[in-house]
Parts: sequence; C-alpha cells; structure tokens
Amino acid sequence: MSILAQVISDVKKRDPHEPEFHQAVEEVFESLEPVAKLHPEWVDAGIFNRIVEPERQIIFRVPWVDDKGKVQVNRGMRVQFNSAIGPYKGGLRFHPSVYPGIIKFLGFEQIFKNSLTGLPMGGGKGGSDFDPKGKSDGEVMRFCQSFMLELARHIGADTDVPAGDIGVGKREIGYLFGMYKKIKNEFTGVLTGKGLPYGGSLVRTQATGYGLCYFMEEAMNTLKNKSFKDSTVVVSGSGNVAIYAAEKASQLGGKVVAMSDSKGCIYDSEGIDLETIKIIKEVEKKRIQEYLKYRPKAVYTEGSSEIWNIKCDIALPCATQNELDENAAKTLVKNGCFAVGEGANMPCNPKAVHLFLKKGLVFAPGKASNAGGVATSGLEMSQNSMRYSWTFEEVDSKLKEIMKEIFRNTNETAKKYGFENNLVAGANIAGFVKVASAMYSQGL
Ligand code: GLU
Repeated sequence: MSILAQVISDVKKRDPHEPEFHQAVEEVFESLEPVAKLHPEWVDAGIFNRIVEPERQIIFRVPWVDDKGKVQVNRGMRVQFNSAIGPYKGGLRFHPSVYPGIIKFLGFEQIFKNSLTGLPMGGGKGGSDFDPKGKSDGEVMRFCQSFMLELARHIGADTDVPAGDIGVGKREIGYLFGMYKKIKNEFTGVLTGKGLPYGGSLVRTQATGYGLCYFMEEAMNTLKNKSFKDSTVVVSGSGNVAIYAAEKASQLGGKVVAMSDSKGCIYDSEGIDLETIKIIKEVEKKRIQEYLKYRPKAVYTEGSSEIWNIKCDIALPCATQNELDENAAKTLVKNGCFAVGEGANMPCNPKAVHLFLKKGLVFAPGKASNAGGVATSGLEMSQNSMRYSWTFEEVDSKLKEIMKEIFRNTNETAKKYGFENNLVAGANIAGFVKVASAMYSQGL
C-alpha cells in the first residue's frame, strides 16, 4: 500500500463516521502521489500523516434561553486544523447538519485554500448545529453570546480568527464580536466579516462571489478563449456567495437565468432580477418561490437539484457540499456546458468532478475558485492591524489580483506535475506544498 493510501485508510479507521471528511482527504490525496515521490523527506517526517489530524479540536455546550423562556442546548465546536503558515482562519457554520465530520472537511479544505491565497493564514473551521432560520434576533443574539462565552478563550487576532459561513452573516458576527470585546476588554481583528462601522472591510460581503467570477473569467480566457460575455449562466443557491456571483457574472456580460434554495429553483428566461432576489433573501428572508410574485413569467420547480437540468454555458454551484452529482454532471455536459466553477465548498461530488475533467470542461475546484472570501478576510485582518481602511476600489483590485494569481499558480503547478489543464490537481498540489514545506521547517 502506498503511504497516501495508508494514511487514507488510517483516517477512515480512526473516525469511521465522518464521510465528508474522508471525501475531502481523498480528493486532496488523489493529487499528491507525485509530491510524495519528489519529497521523500516529507514522507519520512510524517507530513502526510500529520496534516490529516487537526492540531486541536474543541467541542462545547452552548446553553441559551429562547423567547418562551425555555432553556435550549446546542453543541458548539472549533477545529484548529493547521497553523503552519499563520493563525487558524476559517468560518463558523450554524446549520442543523453540523457535526465534527462536516467541520473537519471544511477545516481541511481551508488549509489549502488559505495557502493558495498567498496570505499568512492557517486553516480552521467551527460552528454549531444551531439553526438561525425561524429564530428571532433576540434568540440569535443570546445564542451567539453563549457560543462566544466559551469560544473566546480559544481564539484571538494572532491565534485563531473565525468568520462567517452558512448561517453566519453580519448579524451573527456582530453579536459574536460584541461579546468577545466584553470578555477580553480589547478591540482587535479577532473576527472577519465585521460590519463596516466597527472594523469590517469593504468588498468582504461581495468577495466570495466576485472572486469566483474573477477566477472563472481568467480560467475560461486562458484555457478556452471564452468568457462570461454573452454566456448563459446558472447559479445554484441564493445566499451571500450565490447573490454576488450572479451580480459579477452579469456585470461581466453573462446572463444568469436560474437560481435556487434548499426547496427548489427558479428559471427566468429574461435573466434573473437580482434586486428582487436580494429583497426576498436578504431582507424578507423568505423562500425563493416568492420570486414568482414579482416576476410571474418565471418558472418555479420543486427540488433544488432540478437547477442542473436547465441548459447553460457556465454553471456556478454556490449552495452547499455534494449538491451536484454524476447525473447532474452528465446533464450539464449533454446540454453544452463548458465551464463549472465551485462557489460553495465541495459542491460537486467526486464522480461529477471526474466527469467534468474527462470531458475537458474548465473545472475550478472551490479551494481555488472560492478563495476570494477568505482572501478578503485576510485583507480585513491587515487593515485591522494597521488601524486603517482601504477604499472599495483598492480592496476590489487586490482581490482581482489575488484571484488571477491563484489561477496562474494553480494552472502552472498542474503543468509542472504532469496534470495539464487539471485545476483540481494544480490547486491541491500548490496549496499543499507551501504548508508541507512550512511544517517540515518547523519540525515536529
Ligand atoms: N467561510 C468562508 C470560506 O469557506 C470564509 C472564511 C473566512 O473568511 O475566514 O472560505
């Protein structure tokens, strides 16, 4: 058995009930065989065995009182995965599906994603099985305060810097930051994705979606001489990533015809009206089906995965993990789709990814193409440390440069290791090599 196969088998044996984490490890390790050959010293130093084990995992009780005065208990967690190249950095996810296997997959991905940004950030992730949907502002606040009461002792601007993810946006970050500041009596950049009046960065809200489109524009141009201009685009999801991916895709000349939520999808042949989506999702916090009230000619279909049956040139999965399977991939290919860019973390399952690569589509893995969010978090940390803030144009142009550089690095690395045009291998290897070499230099 090769060393990499041995590590994968050990991971499965050690934590058998974490399929998402196994999937994330297998997807990365699939690309690393040539790296292990080239660096026997990394094999000897146990880098491959060490990188799959988090440096630290914290699981804690989060008690809070709901609006009826009843005590509720959720589970909170933070996985501090790797600090070889900087303080742990990564979002918090509040969703009923959260358990250690999900947080470990996200934390593992985050190590390589953060490395690819070129900024000094290690990998971490956290969250809770708390569901903010249907909760009052007061309930969300009391939950966040209780969550931070424990988390505060484990994080810090130079130790671990959480941010948002699914279910954690500006409101939650505000409550979390307020509590941290009270406990520690210090105003530091301990969280990113903060509101603009208290240390947030311009462009952070738009960053993941915008960054995805900057990456895709560069990739499509270089690899296929194509672009968003005059292309039909489908964007799954309707959260923060999806909304700003759709906005930038339109600004670059694409026509976004479909979006979705966890219940179903809408198709608007005239192009999705994003202002309407923003009202439904950001203000009213309702289901995407409401879109029909504003645009009666649009079509709503029950079932979120129905979106992949809609004919498009470019598909941007921006909802959640494993939302796009092999069947969906076959349909997209059959319908003439030439590019798929992951805005969410691991939205395409392994069989879908293999099909896209086999059929020669431009396929951008999330750890490269959605890195714009955390990259802009890195820029927020820099601004906080300087006690200064850059203009929208300054941050946006830095984000664009970072995304172009991630593409260049990913594409060049793929070529160098014999995986021409395979951005999955390129991203895995480029992200890994930097972290591995830092771990090697630092000893055990
Ligand atoms: N949750 C985002 C991600 O998956 C952003 C993390 C951050 O800004 O720290 O990359």
